Amino acid sequence: AALYGVDAWGAGYYSVNERGEVQVHVEHEGAPVAVSLLDIVQGMRARHLDMPAVLRVRNVLDHRIAVLNESFARAIREGGYGNVYRGVFPIKVNQQCHVIEEIANYGRRYHHGFEAGSKAELIIALSQLRDTESLVVCNGYKDAEFIDLGLYARRMGYPVFFVLESLHELRMVIERSRRLQIAPLIGVRMRSAVKVDGHWSQDSGDRSIFGLSTTALLQVAAELREAGMLDCLQMLHCHLGSQVPNIRNVRSGVLEACQFYAGLVAEGAPMGYLDLGGGLAVDYEGASANTTHSMNYQLDEYCVNIVETVRETLDPLAIAHPVLVSESGRATVAYSSMLLFNVLDVRDCLPGPLPSAPPEGGSELIAHLLEVLQRVCAKNYQECYNDALFYRDELRELFHRGQASLRDRALAEDLCLAVLQRINALLPQLERVPPELESLPEQLSDIYYANFSLFQSLPDIWAIDQLFPIMPIHRLAEYPSREAILADLTCDCDGRIDRFTLPSGERSTLPLHPLREGEGEDYYIGVFLVGAYQETLGDLHNLFGDTNVVNVAVNPDGSFDFAREFHGDSIADVLSYVEYEPKHMQEQFRRVAEEAVRSGRISVEERQRILQAFRDSLQGYTYFEKEGSWQR
Ligand code: PLP
Repeated sequence: AALYGVDAWGAGYYSVNERGEVQVHVEHEGAPVAVSLLDIVQGMRARHLDMPAVLRVRNVLDHRIAVLNESFARAIREGGYGNVYRGVFPIKVNQQCHVIEEIANYGRRYHHGFEAGSKAELIIALSQLRDTESLVVCNGYKDAEFIDLGLYARRMGYPVFFVLESLHELRMVIERSRRLQIAPLIGVRMRSAVKVDGHWSQDSGDRSIFGLSTTALLQVAAELREAGMLDCLQMLHCHLGSQVPNIRNVRSGVLEACQFYAGLVAEGAPMGYLDLGGGLAVDYEGASANTTHSMNYQLDEYCVNIVETVRETLDPLAIAHPVLVSESGRATVAYSSMLLFNVLDVRDCLPGPLPSAPPEGGSELIAHLLEVLQRVCAKNYQECYNDALFYRDELRELFHRGQASLRDRALAEDLCLAVLQRINALLPQLERVPPELESLPEQLSDIYYANFSLFQSLPDIWAIDQLFPIMPIHRLAEYPSREAILADLTCDCDGRIDRFTLPSGERSTLPLHPLREGEGEDYYIGVFLVGAYQETLGDLHNLFGDTNVVNVAVNPDGSFDFAREFHGDSIADVLSYVEYEPKHMQEQFRRVAEEAVRSGRISVEERQRILQAFRDSLQGYTYFEKEGSWQR
């Protein structure tokens, strides 16, 4: 557990039990309950829900909603703040139906609403409307259809806000609301000049593509005044960027937002709502630091900072405290989901059997390599490193010209590898590792071939170098003696994971256990905190489709229910996404098989078997299936 830092990034939701298995912790009326992930995986296998799979734990999602709302409520109570908090979940962060339904159902007790950035997301939000106190905040560019839908919901009594991104949008909102005779609730998105740390710093600042300039904000107020609709301007919206790692940035951003808020009050707008967007970070590294994948604050501190800053800024101006709104996505859903997969094969970087003396008639270069291997030590490792590479490359050159055999080449490569392995073993003893050798551990690490697609299930690793905690979910009572990188199933050199976050720092390899040869036991790895952004950003690279998904609800007695289960895409599904017609493909293949019968290449019985295999494949899972575990 200490090696993988689970106690730090697990935030109390994950730990390792005495059997060496990762367990998930939930609470039932204050009483803690823990369930081993391996037990859940076994339940999945019994239901033919094979790896890879996304596992969502419902209790963890509920707990996240509860702690977010309760932390704000506490900060408001203790800080003498004169209004309430209303959270909204940004649908884009995880649009999956059952995640959204759970947020709507569980969140109702806190009047937790939704943020929608498109028409489709607004339709999702409207379908989940439950009470007239949960907000729906509409961001993004809106057309007349979008605006009409929001206005109709407004007519039904729901607080649907249009957050304006442009003057053009304002004019459309005015025009549509006049036509439908429904007064809108309007918000304005400001462009913050505060520069934030982390990956999403471009969401704020002068060159941000979002929000209205200060002049445009004043213009909105002026046009609304002219239209006799200034009373509709009730919300200021400010989003500094996602995953803001530094609490000082949060404070500066809120401070600036308050001044804008006060400015709009001075313009005569009634206001009443201050929406501070997303940005509440997740500590993927468990480092508690101001780094891209970590954060230097806790949730309580975040809430207290916001509440205090708003109160301290608005009180001297005698402005009533607004309803505080935040659009926390990542911090709400990241913890409840993990991607689980099994390892299919391992390629190690160990040499084959080596001779103790040069083979007779073999190349002289082999004798040199053998001699290097015999003398390598901590005093001469640099020289031996250069020599080994030189002799190996010389031999490859001879092979290229037809002057060395395939056997010579294999032996030279193995001898060179043996020298490098010895040097690698010496590195921890060295005071200073020369830059040339820094990547040696990675070059000599194992490759664990694993049953998943990076592009489908972990797109942020590929797209933005996101770090997620990754570790085996069992065998943790054993020392993980191998160092490895992970390769996915796609035939793409980007389909690998070679950056890991461990308590010892960022590493290019992950300590893993050797596979138990021949024992038929799967080795399972989990990628944690993947509930935010990963599920729908993924793509169909190599036509690997959606994975199986399981939603588990843990009961007070430690048992668990498979609250929902979804089988991932079949091959026919993904083919139809790229415009193939599986029935037509089947018919085309049937004709090819018929032709093979006619020309005598296969018998009629073989034709039947082949066509059946084709049909079965179409219905199969897009990932690696163990024989006998076919899903359909
Ligand atoms: N609100 C808006 C307008 C956003 O653009 C985003 C994401 O960038 C969010 C909320 C969610 O942010 P986070 O996931 O950091 O909470």
